[in-house]
Amino acid sequence: MTNLKVQPTYLKLNERKIMPLDGPLVDRYNRVHSDLRISVTDRCNFRCIYCLPDGNLPTVSKKMLLSFEEIIRVARILKKLGIKTVRLTGGEPLLRRNLSDLILGLDKLGFEDISLTTNGYLLADCASKLKAAGLKRVNISLDSLEEDKFASIRRRGNLKTVLEGLDAAKLAGLTPVKVNVVVMAGVNEDELIDFIPFASKTGTTVRFIEFMPLDSNGSWSLDKFVPFDSILNKINSKWKIEPCQIRDNSAPSRYFRAMETDVVFGIIGSISKQFCSTCDRLRLTSDGSLRNCLFATDETNLLGELRNGNSDQELELLIRKTVWGKKIAHGTDQIGLAKPSRPMSMVGG
Ligand code: SAM
Ligand code: SF4
Repeated sequence: MTNLKVQPTYLKLNERKIMPLDGPLVDRYNRVHSDLRISVTDRCNFRCIYCLPDGNLPTVSKKMLLSFEEIIRVARILKKLGIKTVRLTGGEPLLRRNLSDLILGLDKLGFEDISLTTNGYLLADCASKLKAAGLKRVNISLDSLEEDKFASIRRRGNLKTVLEGLDAAKLAGLTPVKVNVVVMAGVNEDELIDFIPFASKTGTTVRFIEFMPLDSNGSWSLDKFVPFDSILNKINSKWKIEPCQIRDNSAPSRYFRAMETDVVFGIIGSISKQFCSTCDRLRLTSDGSLRNCLFATDETNLLGELRNGNSDQELELLIRKTVWGKKIAHGTDQIGLAKPSRPMSMVGG
């Protein structure tokens, strides 16, 4: 990835060399952590080409899976340490049985926002139940608006059912519904301009995501990568656009307005415009590991600690150490980048 022009991360090392034992969850570079991604399963009913290989895959065994009680205990400790928002993800989170029970439990803890990222295939049947349990909104992954292309990218399911899921989410009030589009050269980049009228028609916010080297089948390569600026140029070739001030919590997405339509869309330049300097995220995997970065090569195993009768104070210390150890940036612009120890489907996107 040495040909990539990457926006640098400007961060100063914290003057305090010693990890604080109270106050907000802060790392060595003064980044305060307030957002938690919980992967509730590593299983998936799709096999998207940018994420998983085709066929049957080994998955985390039932006894290694965090129970809802265990997830809620970790979430309660993290809430006390300053986590404000939670996103449920996977694998495909809607495959986890009785997910609404987990949402109920998380909602009782009083988070400001509980959201979910899904491929949308099972959403139509459960959208209103999830909303009633306390889910606020959903992001739906949808990389093509053409049936055939959808099938070749996602390898399972079908476009119609995902669109029904999207409609059900809107009807249930899981809004604003955001649509995630992973952009791949020679696959769906020719379709990007079509997502503007789609967003206008469906009242959704589309976000184009740079393809990241986090697929478990090693399919990422520079020639399949479409950087932020090219995504923008492609949309600009059809729609007159202007920057828009809207920002997500930790600003991973930069927003623009397609002026003739008034559609606002986002681009997430995780690689070419990395946002490590404002990253406020922590990730909990379905088998109980806490990770301070999507690209991290190490993680803290909380599962054993949870099951060995450790106190909340002991867990809190481990959590603080995990955050304190966060690197300055994810390093995808470095020569010889060490591949993350787990793919996206296991870490939770
Ligand atoms: N299964 C759910 C879904 O597809 O929305 C949730 C999990 S998925 C890992 C979370 C998000 O990561 C999705 O929006 C997906 O498109 C995105 N994603 C997966 N692999 C990716 C990759 N290699 N590069 C960029 N985004 C990726
Ligand atoms: Fe499954 Fe989501 Fe990965 Fe697609 S992106 S294979 S739906 S986990």
